[in-house]
Amino acid sequence: MNPREIAPRWKPSPLLLASGVVHLGAAAALIARPGLWPWALSALLANHAALAAAGLWPRSQLLGPNWTRLPAQGAAPGVAITIDDGPDPNVTPQVLALLDAERASATFFCIGERVLRYSDLAQEIVRRGHAIENHSQSHRHNFSLLGPRAMNAEVSAAQESIFRVTGSSPQFFRAPAGLRNPFLDAVLVRMKLRLASWTRRGFDTVSADADAVFRRLAGPLRAGDILLLHDGHAARTRRQ
Ligand SMILES: [Zn+2]
Repeated sequence: MNPREIAPRWKPSPLLLASGVVHLGAAAALIARPGLWPWALSALLANHAALAAAGLWPRSQLLGPNWTRLPAQGAAPGVAITIDDGPDPNVTPQVLALLDAERASATFFCIGERVLRYSDLAQEIVRRGHAIENHSQSHRHNFSLLGPRAMNAEVSAAQESIFRVTGSSPQFFRAPAGLRNPFLDAVLVRMKLRLASWTRRGFDTVSADADAVFRRLAGPLRAGDILLLHDGHAARTRRQ
């Protein structure tokens, strides 16, 4: 079968559809009545402000589907522990030991370059029963400012790196710092990836106070919550 026939088709979110209408309307108004340019410009600026705000809000659904909780499936779902920015040679082994001790499994949103650099560690994550998902190839700080080609390159390179090292392809993508732009959703649909953000985060990249991080994550804990922690870029305690 031709893969093109089964490739999922991208459907723009209502906000993106409305943005298309605003752009077409502004263009039509300018052609019909050039004197309306201040109104057309205002509409375009307001529209771009709305798009930027939606991209800066990690849990928003305005730019496309976004998992902020686990879907309810018959039996009560558990809680998802997600751990970002690794693998890290100092922190990840300790995280794996803790998860083993609690008989818990977690989802690691790994950076593709780090998966290549610490391939043994990435393989160990999978060997111990955890999942590795896509957190972009190089975790660029300007990820949300990239155009469609560069964004596609960041996501697809990580997909390839993780497959090359672990033998399995991620199903989920999480944007660096959760920041996006309107190009991301179409990229993810083409690669059959679902966007996952979180219900709550521990802010463990800025706080080394484990009790404070735990309180942020655990209260009030409900079935289906997606919790965000870090093994890469984590704040270190003095003992580490
Ligand atoms: Zn990250």
